[in-house]
Amino acid sequence: MAVADLIERGQPFATESSVAKLFASEAAVKAANSALQVFGGYGFIDEYPVGKYVRDARVMTLYEGTSQIQKLLVGRALTGVNAF
Ligand SMILES: Cc1cc2nc3c(=O)[nH]c(=O)nc-3n(C[C@H](O)[C@H](O)[C@H](O)COP(=O)(O)OP(=O)(O)OC[C@H]3O[C@@H](n4cnc5c(N)ncnc54)[C@H](O)[C@@H]3O)c2cc1C
Repeated sequence: MAVADLIERGQPFATESSVAKLFASEAAVKAANSALQVFGGYGFIDEYPVGKYVRDARVMTLYEGTSQIQKLLVGRALTGVNAF
């Protein structure tokens, strides 16, 4: 169920929001890396915005809970095992 829908219904949404944040931020990194690959060296230099997209996407896997922490949270919620 979508996180927004859970919020609307007043239900717990912490695990689902971790899944959404993890998936969306990692997908953004994958997409930005693909764009850099297509642009080659031009994807690295500042003449084009691709390098900025890569950095902007990468930081999304860090703030508001890193991908590693999201995985630990989701894993704990699904298995009951606390690996922190
Ligand atoms: C641009 C930007 C804006 C920010 N804005 C805010 C803000 O407005 N408010 C706010 O409160 N904070 C903000 N932050 C802080 C951000 O939330 C933290 O950077 C983030 O929580 C990660 O904490 P840390 O940098 O201390 O990394 P650390 O906790 O030191 O982690 C370092 C690395 O170790 C990994 N790691 C840590 N523990 C484990 C573990 N148990 N198992 C596996 N890997 C682990 C992490 O995934 C990470 O890769 C911002 C950060 C950035 C970069």
